Amino acid sequence: MLTSPQNSPTDATSGDEPQRLAQNLVATQARIAAAALRFDRPPQAVALLAISKGQSAAVMRSIYTAGQRDFGESYLQEAIDKVDALSDCNLTWHYVGQIQSNKTRLIAEHFQWVHTVDRLRIAERLSEQRPATTQPLNVCIQVKLADEPGKGGASPAEVLTLAPVIARLPRVRLRGLMCIPPPSEQFDEQLGYFKQCRQLQESLTLQGLALDTLSMGMSGDLEAAIAAGATIVRVGTAIFGARSK
Ligand SMILES: *Cc1c(COP(=O)(O)O)cnc(C)c1O
Repeated sequence: MLTSPQNSPTDATSGDEPQRLAQNLVATQARIAAAALRFDRPPQAVALLAISKGQSAAVMRSIYTAGQRDFGESYLQEAIDKVDALSDCNLTWHYVGQIQSNKTRLIAEHFQWVHTVDRLRIAERLSEQRPATTQPLNVCIQVKLADEPGKGGASPAEVLTLAPVIARLPRVRLRGLMCIPPPSEQFDEQLGYFKQCRQLQESLTLQGLALDTLSMGMSGDLEAAIAAGATIVRVGTAIFGARSK
């Protein structure tokens, strides 16, 4: 397993908070760059998505000031309040939570990206409900790589049939795949899952789909994800500290 000091962010809830958050952000950027170089990838090929679920708008504003622009959220109402509170900031909002079909309209109206599409009905609704005045919604299909009850995601076989259909919907733009593998501390095990996701993406590309995104890797496994080809890593704890909820 890869361990590094950056796995233990300084506590962002006590004194000098903006400065601590900015330091955690810089340390995370450095960790991404180091992993990219180590696995022969250009550092700019891996984007950092800050997962800000459970964090206040004030905390988010601190890392916005330090240069972060892409934020990921899982709880819809909380996210919409923050979209409003940070409307002066020109942020890009990513939805990374599980999607209930009665929530698709709010998601289609408030986000630029959705990483967790796992069935056709959801993709169709997002496409229908995406406001005509905006760019198409960027979407990734969430892949479920192991049998984990209650977890979102389509099986690899389902993804192969789902992707070409979603790619033809008018108001969403299929960008690639997203995965959250079962938690593991072992680099090789993490890498094995991430490689499966990458291979699935390659199969879809061979079928003619133009995909450019692999959303994979979190605070505990972003090195393995980058080794396997991640283009977006989704990082919460390493930037913001441990979540209370
Ligand atoms: C919370 C969350 C993350 C961030 O996880 P950390 O371990 O805190 O970095 C990434 N992706 C998704 C989908 C999440 O819900």
